[in-house]
Amino acid sequence: MSYIQEVIEQTEQKNPGQPQFMQTVKEVLTSLAPAVEQNEAKLRKNVILERMVEPDRQIIFRVPWMDDKGVYHVNRGFRIQFNNAIGPYKGGLRFQKDVNLDTMKFLAFEQTFKNSLTSLPMGGGKGGSDFDPVGKSDDEVMRFCQSFMTELYRHIGKDMDVPAGDMGVGGREIGYLFGWYKKIVGDYSNGVLTGKGLSYGGSLIRPEATGFGATYFLEEVLKHEGENIKGKTFALSGFGNVAWGAAKKISELGGKVLTLSGPDGYIYDPDGVSGEKVDYMLEMRASNRNKVKDYADKFGVQFVEGKKPWGNVKADIYMPCARQNEILLEDAEAMVKLGVPVLNEVSNMPTTNEAIAFLQSHGVLVAPSKAVNAGGVATSGLEMSQNSERLSWSAAEVDEKLKGIMAGIHNQICDALHTYGMDYNLVAGANLAGFKKVADAMLAQGLY
Ligand code: GLU
Repeated sequence: MSYIQEVIEQTEQKNPGQPQFMQTVKEVLTSLAPAVEQNEAKLRKNVILERMVEPDRQIIFRVPWMDDKGVYHVNRGFRIQFNNAIGPYKGGLRFQKDVNLDTMKFLAFEQTFKNSLTSLPMGGGKGGSDFDPVGKSDDEVMRFCQSFMTELYRHIGKDMDVPAGDMGVGGREIGYLFGWYKKIVGDYSNGVLTGKGLSYGGSLIRPEATGFGATYFLEEVLKHEGENIKGKTFALSGFGNVAWGAAKKISELGGKVLTLSGPDGYIYDPDGVSGEKVDYMLEMRASNRNKVKDYADKFGVQFVEGKKPWGNVKADIYMPCARQNEILLEDAEAMVKLGVPVLNEVSNMPTTNEAIAFLQSHGVLVAPSKAVNAGGVATSGLEMSQNSERLSWSAAEVDEKLKGIMAGIHNQICDALHTYGMDYNLVAGANLAGFKKVADAMLAQGLY
């Protein structure tokens, strides 16, 4: 049996009931075959793959909190410190009711390779809770964040582990988390969290960074194909921070965003989501209602209840910005039938492995999330640099660096593909490039 297959099987045995984690492990490891075959003896001796699939540390804790009526609740908190070969653990916190250990491990594993691609010194981590922020008051969210940080603070630090936002965790939550961290620890290490407000160490462009970065990466991909964004139509899912940044940049560059989605369904706007409609996305998110229908009601466009845009709307480019596994095999089949040529994955692991294989074998160009959405964490890395320097950079300076980083990721992928004599397969290229840097660092640092 091949080394890769052995490690996949061992990992499956050791992690029963973790389908999302196994999905990414299989996706990444199988695409590493060309690199592993060249160095098999050395990688085997150093148990590199075995160590890469085993998190350094998995922290699970109780988070008790009290709601506005005085009723007590208990949620579960997580922080997975997956790999710190190239830098302190880095990755967001997700607050969502279906978060579990499996979700956290898949996200932390993906984060390790994503952060490696940014070329910044950041290891991989992820955390969060099964706390459901929908419908909670500010005070409830604050009390939850304070309780969460009361345990988390002992595991993080600006050179140890630096959390940030993810789904359900934005500027408000980061503010409450930082306030409580500072209260417990007593010093002003604002480099311990990223995604902060501008008045206490946040970076300009960080809120926009994931969506902007995803669009910059797409520009590189289209350039490679001799095309550009102007005049192209887009189907997006989600309407949160990531979809907002993407819609803003796409409309600026002359593309047309036809759809947004929420848990309730999707909206179809034939004139495109731009200008005040993009600003309205922020209002929808702040309202905490979690309903995209509000957009249809406000702007008088079509709302399709209970459906996703995938396979229902024809567009030049699909950009899932909502959650994992939103594009299944049946969606991929419908997408091929409709003749959608490009899938630019923005949310983490939005496509199942079967769907990716189907799309690629039918000539659809798939840009993988760990490259496409890396602009968010990359700008977090730039926020850490600014905090260390005790300086703030201008929006133009951060944006320029972000653009450079996204182009750099595309170059690294092309270089990796070139090294192994492969075609323009961005999924494999991103894994190969992300893996190389982490593996080299682990080899250099001995058995730990
Ligand atoms: N949650 C984002 C991600 O999935 C950003 C993480 C960060 O900024 O640390 O990459």
